[in-house]
Amino acid sequence: MQCNSILPELADGHENDESNALKRSKSNRWHIGAVQALLDMPFGDLIFQAQQVHRQHHNANAVQLSTLISVKTGGCPEDCGYCPQAARYHTGVDNQAILSVDSVVAAAVAAKEQGATRFCMGAAWRGPKQRDIEIVTKMISAVKALGMETCATLGMLKPGQAGQLGAAGLDYYNHNLDTSADYYDTIISTREYQDRLDTLQEVRDAGINVCCGGIVGMGETRETRAGLIAQLANLNPYPESVPINHLVQVEGTPLYGTAKLDPLEFVRTIAAARITMPKTMVRLSAGRREMSEAVQALCFLAGANSIFYGDKLLTTGNPEVQQDQALLNKLGMQSLPFDPE
Ligand code: SF4
Repeated sequence: MQCNSILPELADGHENDESNALKRSKSNRWHIGAVQALLDMPFGDLIFQAQQVHRQHHNANAVQLSTLISVKTGGCPEDCGYCPQAARYHTGVDNQAILSVDSVVAAAVAAKEQGATRFCMGAAWRGPKQRDIEIVTKMISAVKALGMETCATLGMLKPGQAGQLGAAGLDYYNHNLDTSADYYDTIISTREYQDRLDTLQEVRDAGINVCCGGIVGMGETRETRAGLIAQLANLNPYPESVPINHLVQVEGTPLYGTAKLDPLEFVRTIAAARITMPKTMVRLSAGRREMSEAVQALCFLAGANSIFYGDKLLTTGNPEVQQDQALLNKLGMQSLPFDPE
């Protein structure tokens, strides 16, 4: 085959002497330039390459369904420029105290009945306090007892907190890098990139799977997107789950009014994530509601194999369950079964 592509074995971490621009360094890390070279490929070649990698490691016609519930909404002291839950922005999001364990379990039961296999619990905190951890660990144990995979996104973790979450049965902890290290200060000033990496290490050290991705469409360049993907792919090991979000512009946030990203750039980013992290679950996350079915289908072709499912994604809308089912049926795709051990 002759095309502007990298070979699958290189994508899976092996060196290939004939590949130049796309070659990893001797330390087996992805150079930003190598990821950018992927993003620069002719669209058809890139999708073909991503499909090859995807089919080597996954059922190409299966998608995992996750549901996300906000267990504590709004009033966050951080200043993430995209987030309607930051207290300093006036976005109309109503603050809501932490939910009861019973109401979270009821939501998990409903999500399971609708086919979700993973249940994610999100809270708008800089990081949880000990009293928060005590409530969230009860939620985790109760959801786990339903036979679902559990995921939480609670902000930065202090030493020891990841261990408590893991002991309660947490399968995944979500903590996104958001963007490349170089662009990070443009988006957030109340914490450092290194803080994020430190929390990810806490999660790894506790034996919890890492869910970590980013957001595109925040006014960044293609090189910035390459920087994000390279950073994720160079985590050792790379995350088990990589959500790729498309900015949902919310009035009142600093990023409202940002120039819109071409949808095909989003698809390219998905493909680069798939090629550089062959075994991860690449998750189509925020912004899916604004995408046409055709763009979503291209994302699946590019290697996305997980979606958030249900009518809410934290505080922004997500396509209705029936619409999602209709799209999956139209594409001949099935939801991935989860078989709890
Ligand atoms: S993204 Fe998270 S940490 Fe940042 S402002 Fe929103 S809730 Fe707070």
